[in-house]
Amino acid sequence: MLRELLLAVMMCSGACAQGSAPDETAKRAATASPPTCDGALKQGGLVICHAAPGETMTVAGVRQVVDDTGTAQFGIRTNAPSVIGWSAASGAFGDLAIAARDDEFRTIKGFDCDKVDARSPEQKAHAAKSWQIKQEAFARLNPGPGALGGFIKPADAPASSPFGPTRKYIGVSKVTGEPCESTSVHQGYDMAAPIGTPVVAPAGGKVILADPDLYYEGGAVFLDHGHGLTSVFMHLSDVDVAAGDVVKRGDVLAKTGNSGRTTGPHLHWAVKWRNAASADRGGDFYIDPALLLDLPVSEPE
Ligand SMILES: [Zn+2]
Repeated sequence: MLRELLLAVMMCSGACAQGSAPDETAKRAATASPPTCDGALKQGGLVICHAAPGETMTVAGVRQVVDDTGTAQFGIRTNAPSVIGWSAASGAFGDLAIAARDDEFRTIKGFDCDKVDARSPEQKAHAAKSWQIKQEAFARLNPGPGALGGFIKPADAPASSPFGPTRKYIGVSKVTGEPCESTSVHQGYDMAAPIGTPVVAPAGGKVILADPDLYYEGGAVFLDHGHGLTSVFMHLSDVDVAAGDVVKRGDVLAKTGNSGRTTGPHLHWAVKWRNAASADRGGDFYIDPALLLDLPVSEPE
């Protein structure tokens, strides 16, 4: 009996699941070539790994999803270290060199305190309802290619404000006379588009929110590309899609505008990354859309 048990343990080296019969998925992953990773390897960027289907990967100590096609995509925080380590359940491991950002810090004085914060009961109710609508949109993750096919610019307009700078606003409320101060990081990529410029899907995906009147965002469309990547478009004048629509890269979603809390007509494009493998979605952080535009773009879908 003891000899049989020992024999079973010895035969079980390499690809056994918890001492029981060899798990087919783990066995496939162990015999396939080790993962390779590339992408936009910069703080605020995105890593794309190709691995064996069924592989389990851990990046910077956090488990990541490898889908049925063997692709894993994960966002890089803007304060990520210069080297990120990854490992796979099949035993492979490696390091990724992450380029540093150099975002500016700007102070903006003479700020109109009444313009941004919701102050009146109506504004507060509008902001609260908008928050609820966004929570519901982000409650689920949808399948999709993520950044695999690359991204195109969502509007034919020049960039006007990059992702990343920290802005400190100092001003006085005209209503109460009280000073106000707030600090925020610009989480999107602004494009100087005149009102009515078409907004197209930078990559394929499923529309998870289409609303003409959110409090801060104004007219807004949220597009889930899969792999935890969601594009957010704000300040729109027209919304031409509905939640649930599945769109291809280049399909028209909306028209640019000047709605919501904005200082002038422009398109604000943000990309949120959520880790599908963690309960808290990896902290739900934004990455730099401009870095996605540098990824190779595949043939039209
Ligand atoms: Zn913006």
